[in-house]
Amino acid sequence: MTERAERRFFAREGVDPLTAAFTRKSAVHAGIGGKPVENALIPKTWEKIMNQPRTASSTAYFHIPFCRNHCLYCGFYKYSADRATSRDYTDALIRELHMDRDKPAVFGYPLHAVYLGGGTPTVLAPKDLERLLKAICNILPLANDSEITIETTAADLNEDILSACIAGGANRFSVGVQSFDTAVRKNLGRRSDREKVMECLQSARDKNAAAIIIDLIYGLPGQNMTIWENDMKTFLDLEIDGADLYQLNVFNNTPLAASVETGRLPKPAELAEQAHMFKRGVELMDARHCRRLSMTHWATGGRERNMYNQLMKSGAPCLPYGAGAGGTLGGYLCMVNGHLNTYLKELAAGRKPVSGMLAAPPQKPLINAIAGGLETGYLNMEKIRQTHGIDIESICAPLLEQWWRTGLIHRDGGRVKLTLAGQFWQVNLAQALIDHLLENLESQ
Ligand code: SF4
Repeated sequence: MTERAERRFFAREGVDPLTAAFTRKSAVHAGIGGKPVENALIPKTWEKIMNQPRTASSTAYFHIPFCRNHCLYCGFYKYSADRATSRDYTDALIRELHMDRDKPAVFGYPLHAVYLGGGTPTVLAPKDLERLLKAICNILPLANDSEITIETTAADLNEDILSACIAGGANRFSVGVQSFDTAVRKNLGRRSDREKVMECLQSARDKNAAAIIIDLIYGLPGQNMTIWENDMKTFLDLEIDGADLYQLNVFNNTPLAASVETGRLPKPAELAEQAHMFKRGVELMDARHCRRLSMTHWATGGRERNMYNQLMKSGAPCLPYGAGAGGTLGGYLCMVNGHLNTYLKELAAGRKPVSGMLAAPPQKPLINAIAGGLETGYLNMEKIRQTHGIDIESICAPLLEQWWRTGLIHRDGGRVKLTLAGQFWQVNLAQALIDHLLENLESQ
Protein backbone atom coordinates (compact mmCIF):
# COMPACT_ATOMS: atom_id res chain seq x y z
CA MET A 1 0.00 0.00 0.00
CA THR A 2 1.36 3.46 -0.94
CA GLU A 3 1.98 6.13 1.70
CA ARG A 4 -0.85 8.21 0.22
CA ALA A 5 -3.29 5.32 0.45
CA GLU A 6 -2.16 4.71 4.04
CA ARG A 7 -2.98 8.33 4.88
CA ARG A 8 -6.42 8.06 3.23
CA PHE A 9 -7.51 4.94 5.05
CA PHE A 10 -5.52 4.44 8.22
CA ALA A 11 -5.76 6.50 11.41
CA ARG A 12 -2.76 8.35 12.84
CA GLU A 13 -0.99 6.38 15.55
CA GLY A 14 0.27 7.59 18.93
CA VAL A 15 -2.23 10.50 19.09
CA ASP A 16 -5.51 11.11 20.92
CA PRO A 17 -8.00 9.35 18.60
CA LEU A 18 -10.84 11.72 19.49
CA THR A 19 -9.06 14.91 18.47
CA ALA A 20 -6.42 13.76 15.98
CA ALA A 21 -7.20 10.36 14.38
CA PHE A 22 -7.22 12.03 10.95
CA THR A 23 -5.92 15.39 9.78
CA ARG A 24 -9.17 16.42 8.12
CA LYS A 25 -12.81 15.70 8.87
CA SER A 26 -15.06 14.60 6.01
CA ALA A 27 -18.09 16.88 5.90
CA VAL A 28 -20.57 15.14 3.63
CA HIS A 29 -22.22 11.76 3.93
CA ALA A 30 -20.19 8.79 2.83
CA GLY A 31 -20.99 7.26 -0.55
CA ILE A 32 -19.98 7.04 -4.20
CA GLY A 33 -21.07 8.94 -7.29
CA GLY A 34 -22.66 7.57 -10.45
CA LYS A 35 -22.65 7.79 -14.24
CA PRO A 36 -24.48 10.83 -15.70
CA VAL A 37 -27.40 10.10 -18.01
CA GLU A 38 -27.20 12.10 -21.28
CA ASN A 39 -29.65 15.01 -21.27
CA ALA A 40 -31.48 13.70 -24.34
CA LEU A 41 -32.14 10.39 -22.56
CA ILE A 42 -33.45 11.87 -19.29
CA PRO A 43 -37.21 12.01 -20.16
CA LYS A 44 -37.19 8.39 -21.38
CA THR A 45 -35.19 7.21 -18.35
CA TRP A 46 -37.57 9.03 -15.99
CA GLU A 47 -40.53 7.35 -17.73
CA LYS A 48 -38.81 3.97 -17.31
CA ILE A 49 -38.22 4.38 -13.56
CA MET A 50 -41.75 5.74 -13.01
CA ASN A 51 -43.02 2.44 -14.38
CA GLN A 52 -40.99 0.34 -11.92
CA PRO A 53 -42.86 -0.38 -8.66
CA ARG A 54 -41.21 0.66 -5.38
CA THR A 55 -40.72 -2.30 -3.05
CA ALA A 56 -38.89 -0.86 -0.04
CA SER A 57 -39.54 1.66 2.75
CA SER A 58 -39.48 5.03 0.98
CA THR A 59 -39.70 8.78 1.37
CA ALA A 60 -40.85 11.83 -0.58
CA TYR A 61 -38.97 15.13 -0.51
CA PHE A 62 -40.48 18.54 -1.34
CA HIS A 63 -38.04 21.38 -1.93
CA ILE A 64 -39.24 24.89 -1.08
CA PRO A 65 -36.45 27.16 -2.34
CA PHE A 66 -37.46 30.31 -0.45
CA CYS A 67 -36.04 31.95 2.65
CA ARG A 68 -36.20 35.28 4.48
CA ASN A 69 -32.84 34.85 6.22
CA HIS A 70 -29.24 35.30 5.10
CA CYS A 71 -27.36 32.94 7.41
CA LEU A 72 -23.65 33.32 6.79
CA TYR A 73 -22.89 29.59 6.69
CA CYS A 74 -25.77 28.70 4.36
CA GLY A 75 -24.87 27.39 0.92
CA PHE A 76 -28.45 26.89 -0.29
CA TYR A 77 -29.55 28.86 -3.30
CA LYS A 78 -32.82 30.57 -2.37
CA TYR A 79 -35.43 33.02 -3.60
CA SER A 80 -37.63 35.45 -1.71
CA ALA A 81 -41.38 34.76 -1.89
CA ASP A 82 -44.33 37.13 -1.92
CA ARG A 83 -47.99 36.05 -1.75
CA ALA A 84 -48.29 35.44 -5.50
CA THR A 85 -45.07 33.39 -5.62
CA SER A 86 -46.25 31.32 -2.67
CA ARG A 87 -49.57 30.61 -4.44
CA ASP A 88 -47.97 29.86 -7.84
CA TYR A 89 -45.29 27.61 -6.38
CA THR A 90 -47.86 25.66 -4.32
CA ASP A 91 -50.03 25.27 -7.44
CA ALA A 92 -46.98 23.95 -9.32
CA LEU A 93 -46.14 21.42 -6.58
CA ILE A 94 -49.73 20.16 -6.54
CA ARG A 95 -49.64 19.85 -10.35
CA GLU A 96 -46.38 17.91 -10.03
CA LEU A 97 -48.00 15.61 -7.45
CA HIS A 98 -50.87 14.84 -9.83
CA MET A 99 -48.57 14.26 -12.80
CA ASP A 100 -47.21 10.80 -11.87
CA ARG A 101 -49.72 9.82 -9.18
CA ASP A 102 -50.88 6.63 -10.93
CA LYS A 103 -47.41 5.40 -11.91
CA PRO A 104 -46.11 2.20 -10.23
CA ALA A 105 -43.16 4.09 -8.71
CA VAL A 106 -45.59 6.35 -6.84
CA PHE A 107 -48.72 4.34 -6.26
CA GLY A 108 -49.11 0.88 -4.72
CA TYR A 109 -46.44 0.82 -2.02
CA PRO A 110 -46.54 2.87 1.19
CA LEU A 111 -44.39 5.94 1.79
CA HIS A 112 -42.99 6.10 5.31
CA ALA A 113 -41.72 9.65 5.53
CA VAL A 114 -42.36 12.98 3.82
CA TYR A 115 -40.06 15.96 4.27
CA LEU A 116 -40.65 19.58 3.30
CA GLY A 117 -37.22 21.19 3.26
CA GLY A 118 -35.48 24.18 1.73
CA GLY A 119 -34.80 27.05 2.12
CA THR A 120 -37.51 27.56 4.69
CA PRO A 121 -40.83 25.92 3.71
CA THR A 122 -42.73 28.07 6.23
CA VAL A 123 -42.05 31.09 4.01
CA LEU A 124 -45.08 29.81 2.07
CA ALA A 125 -48.36 31.36 3.24
CA PRO A 126 -50.15 29.24 5.90
CA LYS A 127 -53.11 28.53 3.62
CA ASP A 128 -50.73 27.37 0.85
CA LEU A 129 -48.88 25.09 3.26
CA GLU A 130 -52.16 23.61 4.42
CA ARG A 131 -53.43 22.87 0.91
CA LEU A 132 -50.05 21.46 -0.14
CA LEU A 133 -50.00 19.13 2.87
CA LYS A 134 -53.60 18.07 2.24
CA ALA A 135 -52.74 17.32 -1.40
CA ILE A 136 -49.73 15.24 -0.27
CA CYS A 137 -51.91 13.26 2.16
CA ASN A 138 -54.65 12.74 -0.47
CA ILE A 139 -52.44 11.90 -3.44
CA LEU A 140 -49.47 9.96 -2.07
CA PRO A 141 -49.86 6.45 -0.63
CA LEU A 142 -48.76 7.38 2.89
CA ALA A 143 -48.38 4.67 5.52
CA ASN A 144 -50.69 5.20 8.51
CA ASP A 145 -47.67 6.02 10.67
CA SER A 146 -45.92 8.14 8.06
CA GLU A 147 -43.68 10.89 9.45
CA ILE A 148 -44.52 14.28 7.84
CA THR A 149 -41.90 16.90 8.65
CA ILE A 150 -41.79 20.64 8.04
CA GLU A 151 -38.39 22.30 8.25
CA THR A 152 -38.63 25.79 9.74
CA THR A 153 -36.98 28.48 11.84
CA ALA A 154 -38.04 29.40 15.38
CA ALA A 155 -39.24 32.84 14.20
CA ASP A 156 -41.61 31.20 11.69
CA LEU A 157 -43.07 28.78 14.19
CA ASN A 158 -46.08 31.00 14.96
CA GLU A 159 -49.68 30.03 15.71
CA ASP A 160 -50.90 30.52 12.11
CA ILE A 161 -48.16 28.30 10.63
CA LEU A 162 -48.45 25.65 13.33
CA SER A 163 -52.23 25.41 13.01
CA ALA A 164 -52.15 25.32 9.20
CA CYS A 165 -49.47 22.62 9.08
CA ILE A 166 -51.15 20.47 11.71
CA ALA A 167 -54.52 20.85 9.96
CA GLY A 168 -52.77 19.76 6.76
CA GLY A 169 -51.40 16.61 8.39
CA ALA A 170 -47.84 17.52 9.51
CA ASN A 171 -46.73 15.61 12.60
CA ARG A 172 -43.14 16.84 13.02
CA PHE A 173 -41.33 20.21 12.90
CA SER A 174 -37.58 20.38 12.45
CA VAL A 175 -36.44 23.79 13.68
CA GLY A 176 -33.04 25.26 12.74
CA VAL A 177 -31.99 26.84 16.05
CA GLN A 178 -28.18 26.34 15.75
CA SER A 179 -27.51 28.18 19.07
CA PHE A 180 -29.72 29.77 21.74
CA ASP A 181 -27.05 32.37 22.51
CA THR A 182 -28.19 35.76 21.19
CA ALA A 183 -24.67 37.02 20.36
CA VAL A 184 -23.74 33.80 18.54
CA ARG A 185 -27.03 33.91 16.64
CA LYS A 186 -26.37 37.49 15.62
CA ASN A 187 -22.93 36.49 14.33
CA LEU A 188 -24.68 34.00 12.03
CA GLY A 189 -27.26 36.45 10.73
CA ARG A 190 -30.20 34.86 12.62
CA ARG A 191 -32.94 37.38 13.37
CA SER A 192 -34.47 36.21 16.66
CA ASP A 193 -32.87 36.39 20.09
CA ARG A 194 -32.78 33.68 22.78
CA GLU A 195 -36.06 34.81 24.40
CA LYS A 196 -37.97 34.76 21.12
CA VAL A 197 -36.61 31.31 20.17
CA MET A 198 -37.55 29.90 23.59
CA GLU A 199 -41.03 31.42 23.42
CA CYS A 200 -41.72 29.93 19.96
CA LEU A 201 -40.44 26.47 20.91
CA GLN A 202 -42.38 26.44 24.18
CA SER A 203 -45.67 27.37 22.54
CA ALA A 204 -45.16 24.75 19.78
CA ARG A 205 -44.33 22.16 22.47
CA ASP A 206 -47.38 23.10 24.55
CA LYS A 207 -49.69 22.57 21.57
CA ASN A 208 -48.65 18.92 21.93
CA ALA A 209 -49.79 18.10 18.39
CA ALA A 210 -46.49 17.24 16.68
CA ALA A 211 -42.90 16.30 17.45
CA ILE A 212 -40.61 19.35 17.84
CA ILE A 213 -36.98 18.71 16.86
CA ILE A 214 -34.15 21.24 16.73
CA ASP A 215 -30.73 21.46 15.07
CA LEU A 216 -27.82 22.65 17.21
CA ILE A 217 -24.36 23.38 15.82
CA TYR A 218 -21.08 23.23 17.75
CA GLY A 219 -17.97 25.21 16.84
CA LEU A 220 -19.77 28.42 15.78
CA PRO A 221 -17.89 31.77 15.81
CA GLY A 222 -18.03 33.15 19.36
CA GLN A 223 -19.35 29.86 20.83
CA ASN A 224 -16.98 28.50 23.48
CA MET A 225 -17.47 25.36 25.58
CA THR A 226 -19.50 27.23 28.22
CA ILE A 227 -21.91 28.58 25.61
CA TRP A 228 -22.17 25.12 24.02
CA GLU A 229 -22.99 23.54 27.39
CA ASN A 230 -25.67 26.20 27.90
CA ASP A 231 -27.11 25.45 24.46
CA MET A 232 -27.29 21.76 25.34
CA LYS A 233 -28.80 22.36 28.79
CA THR A 234 -31.36 24.79 27.34
CA PHE A 235 -32.43 22.11 24.87
CA LEU A 236 -32.65 19.43 27.56
CA ASP A 237 -34.66 21.67 29.91
CA LEU A 238 -37.09 22.62 27.15
CA GLU A 239 -38.43 19.06 27.06
CA ILE A 240 -39.06 19.02 23.33
CA ASP A 241 -38.77 15.78 21.34
CA GLY A 242 -35.28 15.63 19.94
CA ALA A 243 -32.18 17.30 18.55
CA ASP A 244 -29.48 16.94 15.94
CA LEU A 245 -25.98 17.98 16.99
CA TYR A 246 -23.97 19.08 13.98
CA GLN A 247 -20.37 20.21 13.66
CA LEU A 248 -19.80 23.57 11.94
CA ASN A 249 -18.10 23.25 8.57
CA VAL A 250 -16.66 26.43 7.10
CA PHE A 251 -16.55 25.97 3.34
CA ASN A 252 -14.21 28.05 1.17
CA ASN A 253 -15.67 31.05 -0.67
CA THR A 254 -18.70 31.37 1.61
CA PRO A 255 -19.72 34.60 3.40
CA LEU A 256 -18.82 32.90 6.70
CA ALA A 257 -15.27 32.10 5.52
CA ALA A 258 -14.86 35.70 4.28
CA SER A 259 -16.15 37.16 7.59
CA VAL A 260 -13.68 35.05 9.58
CA GLU A 261 -10.83 35.90 7.21
CA THR A 262 -11.40 39.65 7.45
CA GLY A 263 -11.73 39.45 11.25
CA ARG A 264 -15.37 40.58 11.24
CA LEU A 265 -16.19 37.38 13.13
CA PRO A 266 -14.10 35.50 15.71
CA LYS A 267 -12.40 32.33 14.48
CA PRO A 268 -14.60 29.26 15.00
CA ALA A 269 -13.35 26.41 17.20
CA GLU A 270 -10.52 24.30 15.78
CA LEU A 271 -11.11 20.60 15.07
CA ALA A 272 -9.76 19.42 18.46
CA GLU A 273 -12.04 21.81 20.35
CA GLN A 274 -15.00 20.70 18.22
CA ALA A 275 -14.20 17.10 19.13
CA HIS A 276 -14.39 18.00 22.83
CA MET A 277 -17.69 19.81 22.24
CA PHE A 278 -19.05 16.69 20.52
CA LYS A 279 -17.92 14.57 23.48
CA ARG A 280 -19.60 16.94 25.94
CA GLY A 281 -22.81 16.88 23.88
CA VAL A 282 -22.88 13.06 23.98
CA GLU A 283 -22.23 13.07 27.75
CA LEU A 284 -25.06 15.52 28.43
CA MET A 285 -27.50 13.54 26.25
CA ASP A 286 -26.50 10.32 28.06
CA ALA A 287 -26.86 11.95 31.47
CA ARG A 288 -30.54 12.73 30.67
CA HIS A 289 -31.17 9.24 29.21
CA CYS A 290 -31.90 10.53 25.71
CA ARG A 291 -32.31 7.82 23.06
CA ARG A 292 -29.65 7.93 20.38
CA LEU A 293 -31.10 7.34 16.91
CA SER A 294 -27.98 8.08 14.87
CA MET A 295 -24.50 9.47 15.43
CA THR A 296 -25.92 13.02 15.31
CA HIS A 297 -29.53 12.60 16.45
CA TRP A 298 -31.19 12.03 19.82
CA ALA A 299 -34.83 11.62 20.94
CA THR A 300 -35.98 12.57 24.41
CA GLY A 301 -39.13 10.39 24.41
CA GLY A 302 -41.18 8.01 22.31
CA ARG A 303 -42.65 10.46 19.81
CA GLU A 304 -39.51 11.15 17.79
CA ARG A 305 -38.41 8.48 15.24
CA ASN A 306 -36.16 10.36 12.79
CA MET A 307 -37.58 8.22 9.97
CA TYR A 308 -36.78 10.50 7.03
CA ASN A 309 -33.11 10.99 7.88
CA GLN A 310 -32.53 7.33 8.71
CA LEU A 311 -34.16 6.19 5.46
CA MET A 312 -32.25 8.76 3.39
CA LYS A 313 -28.91 7.83 4.88
CA SER A 314 -29.46 4.17 4.15
CA GLY A 315 -30.25 4.96 0.49
CA ALA A 316 -34.03 4.34 0.58
CA PRO A 317 -36.05 5.33 -2.52
CA CYS A 318 -37.09 8.99 -2.45
CA LEU A 319 -39.63 10.70 -4.74
CA PRO A 320 -38.44 14.27 -5.50
CA TYR A 321 -40.82 17.24 -5.90
CA GLY A 322 -40.09 20.96 -6.30
CA ALA A 323 -37.41 23.15 -7.89
CA GLY A 324 -33.99 21.82 -6.89
CA ALA A 325 -35.29 18.63 -5.20
CA GLY A 326 -33.09 15.53 -5.33
CA GLY A 327 -34.35 11.95 -5.14
CA THR A 328 -33.34 8.31 -5.58
CA LEU A 329 -35.44 5.91 -7.64
CA GLY A 330 -34.97 2.69 -9.58
CA GLY A 331 -31.17 2.81 -9.31
CA TYR A 332 -30.88 6.49 -10.35
CA LEU A 333 -30.18 9.71 -8.49
CA CYS A 334 -32.55 12.32 -9.95
CA MET A 335 -32.54 16.11 -9.74
CA VAL A 336 -35.52 18.37 -10.46
CA ASN A 337 -34.56 21.60 -12.27
CA GLY A 338 -33.49 24.16 -9.64
CA HIS A 339 -34.13 27.25 -11.75
CA LEU A 340 -37.48 28.53 -10.46
CA ASN A 341 -38.83 30.00 -13.72
CA THR A 342 -37.79 26.99 -15.79
CA TYR A 343 -39.36 24.68 -13.22
CA LEU A 344 -42.66 26.63 -13.31
CA LYS A 345 -42.71 26.82 -17.12
CA GLU A 346 -41.99 23.12 -17.60
CA LEU A 347 -44.73 22.14 -15.19
CA ALA A 348 -47.19 24.51 -16.83
CA ALA A 349 -46.40 22.70 -20.07
CA GLY A 350 -47.21 19.35 -18.40
CA ARG A 351 -43.63 18.05 -18.15
CA LYS A 352 -41.82 16.82 -15.02
CA PRO A 353 -38.75 19.09 -15.04
CA VAL A 354 -36.07 16.48 -14.31
CA SER A 355 -32.78 18.13 -15.27
CA GLY A 356 -30.14 15.66 -14.12
CA MET A 357 -29.79 11.92 -13.53
CA LEU A 358 -26.94 9.69 -12.39
CA ALA A 359 -27.05 5.92 -12.81
CA ALA A 360 -26.00 4.47 -9.46
CA PRO A 361 -23.13 1.95 -9.64
CA PRO A 362 -23.98 -1.75 -9.07
CA GLN A 363 -22.30 -1.70 -5.65
CA LYS A 364 -24.75 0.96 -4.40
CA PRO A 365 -26.84 -1.39 -2.18
CA LEU A 366 -23.63 -2.60 -0.50
CA ILE A 367 -22.42 1.00 -0.02
CA ASN A 368 -25.82 1.98 1.42
CA ALA A 369 -25.63 -0.91 3.90
CA ILE A 370 -22.18 0.23 5.11
CA ALA A 371 -22.97 3.97 5.26
CA GLY A 372 -26.42 3.38 6.81
CA GLY A 373 -24.98 1.00 9.42
CA LEU A 374 -22.12 3.26 10.49
CA GLU A 375 -24.56 6.18 10.66
CA THR A 376 -26.08 4.34 13.63
CA GLY A 377 -22.61 3.56 15.04
CA TYR A 378 -22.83 -0.17 14.33
CA LEU A 379 -21.97 -2.41 11.40
CA ASN A 380 -23.09 -6.04 11.18
CA MET A 381 -20.54 -7.38 8.69
CA GLU A 382 -21.84 -10.93 9.03
CA LYS A 383 -25.30 -9.81 7.90
CA ILE A 384 -23.75 -7.88 4.99
CA ARG A 385 -21.83 -11.03 3.99
CA GLN A 386 -25.05 -13.04 3.98
CA THR A 387 -27.04 -10.38 2.07
CA HIS A 388 -24.45 -9.06 -0.37
CA GLY A 389 -21.96 -11.93 -0.54
CA ILE A 390 -19.05 -9.61 0.37
CA ASP A 391 -16.79 -10.46 3.30
CA ILE A 392 -15.79 -6.99 4.57
CA GLU A 393 -14.11 -8.50 7.60
CA SER A 394 -11.55 -10.41 5.60
CA ILE A 395 -11.13 -7.93 2.69
CA CYS A 396 -10.61 -4.96 5.06
CA ALA A 397 -8.89 -6.94 7.84
CA PRO A 398 -5.75 -4.72 8.13
CA LEU A 399 -7.84 -1.56 8.23
CA LEU A 400 -10.24 -2.85 10.87
CA GLU A 401 -7.37 -4.16 12.96
CA GLN A 402 -5.63 -0.74 12.86
CA TRP A 403 -8.82 1.16 13.72
CA TRP A 404 -9.39 -1.19 16.66
CA ARG A 405 -5.76 -0.71 17.82
CA THR A 406 -6.03 3.10 17.57
CA GLY A 407 -9.25 3.23 19.59
CA LEU A 408 -11.81 4.02 16.86
CA ILE A 409 -13.84 0.80 16.93
CA HIS A 410 -14.83 -2.06 19.22
CA ARG A 411 -14.97 -5.49 17.58
CA ASP A 412 -17.27 -8.33 18.48
CA GLY A 413 -17.18 -11.31 16.10
CA GLY A 414 -18.52 -10.13 12.75
CA ARG A 415 -19.69 -6.79 14.16
CA VAL A 416 -18.13 -3.37 14.60
CA LYS A 417 -19.24 -0.72 17.06
CA LEU A 418 -17.81 2.81 16.98
CA THR A 419 -16.07 4.15 20.10
CA LEU A 420 -16.74 7.76 21.09
CA ALA A 421 -13.73 8.81 18.99
CA GLY A 422 -15.00 6.66 16.11
CA GLN A 423 -18.39 8.37 16.37
CA PHE A 424 -16.77 11.80 15.92
CA TRP A 425 -14.92 10.52 12.82
CA GLN A 426 -17.84 8.41 11.57
CA VAL A 427 -18.04 9.92 8.07
CA ASN A 428 -14.25 9.51 7.59
CA LEU A 429 -14.48 5.88 8.69
CA ALA A 430 -17.49 5.10 6.48
CA GLN A 431 -15.89 6.70 3.42
CA ALA A 432 -12.50 5.05 4.06
CA LEU A 433 -14.12 1.63 4.54
CA ILE A 434 -16.16 2.01 1.33
CA ASP A 435 -13.16 3.22 -0.73
CA HIS A 436 -10.83 0.57 0.70
CA LEU A 437 -13.39 -2.18 0.06
CA LEU A 438 -14.10 -1.08 -3.53
CA GLU A 439 -10.39 -0.72 -4.40
CA ASN A 440 -9.66 -4.17 -3.03
CA LEU A 441 -12.69 -5.71 -4.75
CA GLU A 442 -11.47 -4.28 -8.08
CA SER A 443 -7.98 -5.69 -7.62
CA GLN A 444 -9.30 -9.19 -6.75
S1 SF4 B 1 -32.78 29.87 7.49
FE1 SF4 B 1 -31.96 27.96 6.61
S2 SF4 B 1 -32.18 28.16 4.38
FE2 SF4 B 1 -32.48 30.21 5.27
S3 SF4 B 1 -30.44 31.17 5.12
FE3 SF4 B 1 -30.59 30.26 7.17
S4 SF4 B 1 -29.74 28.17 6.96
FE4 SF4 B 1 -30.14 28.94 4.88
